[in-house]
Order: sequence, then C-alpha cells, then structure tokens
Amino acid sequence: MSMTPTVFVFERLAALIQQLVREDAARHGLLPVHLQVLGYLAQANRYSDIPIAVASYLGITRGTVSQTLAVLERKGLISRSGDDRHGRRVHLSLTAAGESVLAGSWPQRLDELLVAGGADLEGLATQLRTVLGSLQRLNDRQAFGQCRECAHFLGEPGSHLCGLTGEALAVEQTIRICREWSAPAPAMTDEGLSAPPGEQ
Ligand code: SF4
Repeated sequence: MSMTPTVFVFERLAALIQQLVREDAARHGLLPVHLQVLGYLAQANRYSDIPIAVASYLGITRGTVSQTLAVLERKGLISRSGDDRHGRRVHLSLTAAGESVLAGSWPQRLDELLVAGGADLEGLATQLRTVLGSLQRLNDRQAFGQCRECAHFLGEPGSHLCGLTGEALAVEQTIRICREWSAPAPAMTDEGLSAPPGEQ
C-alpha cells in the first residue's frame, strides 16, 4: 500500500504516541486506557466529565469505561461527585494524585518541545484541526472542541454563557473541551463566505 508523505507522518505520529502512552502508563503501574481517561478528565468541562462522554471521546464501550473508572477510583486517582440539578448524574474529577500522574507525561513533553521549537503553533493547530475535523466527520465521531471556539459560546468581557444550555460559564470552563461542541458557521466576508475556523 502506498501513502503520501503526509499520511506517512500521521501514521508514524500515531504509532509513536501509542508507544509513549504505554510507557507513561507503565511507569505508574497503569494500563494505557487508564492514562487516556485521566488525560481526558483533565480537559473535560462540566457537561463532559461523565462516564458516557469518556466512552464517546475514547471510542470505547461503557463496560470498559466503568471498569477503568473503578480501577482509577480504587487507586485514588479520580473522585466522583453528585450533581445538584441532575440527581443521578455523576461528575468525575482528578485527585491530586491523579494530576501528578499526568505531570511530565507525553502531551506535556510535546508541548514544551513545540514551544521551544518556535514554530507557528497557531497555523499548525489550524491545519491539524482541519484534518482532524475531516477524519471525525468521515468516521461519524463527536468533535469535542474547546468551549471558546464553539458555535454556542457567547462571550463578553466579564461574562460567558453557553447558548445551548443558557447557563453561565466560569472562565476556567471556557478553555475546556465539551461533548456538545459545534463548529461555528462560516463567517461572511466581502468576498463571500469564508471557511469556518479550523478549515481555512
Ligand atoms: S458553548 Fe458549546 S462548548 Fe461551551 S458549554 Fe456550551 S455547548 Fe459546550
């Protein structure tokens, strides 16, 4: 099978990241899926820190999620809390021990490498988002974007609101990822419709 150089780079990146996740997890006596769940919960907003969203984000079954959460809870790496408005909903969060597992893991090392490299990180993120969005649509996967870049995000100085739920958003929630995220509609310019963010 032949592949373009770009696809080859993605293939190598995917394989390398898989190896790094395995190594990071093994260092803490964990399985890769344990580390992936911790990594997800570290970013998820309050609509997304629930078991069903973990399953959807990682593309794993609810059964696997519930076993994984039980292990993480037993090890003291996550905790559960109730929801004042939705009686049966359970929110998940990292404990201090869970956060310390993520310290120095591969995303943090990559982040430091990219910042030190001085590349155009915004441009790179835009191009990668385009690829990611296309692949997600092709495979019918949820997008899970950052709140501030969502079509429903209503932000004004000093006040942030989710247009979908009508609820106020704390500033720290606006940089988290959300299972309800929608891509913004393309903006109108003098030349006509421009591509939506992430597809320019
Ligand atoms: S604005 Fe979008 S991303 Fe933010 S909480 Fe609402 S639905 Fe989720």
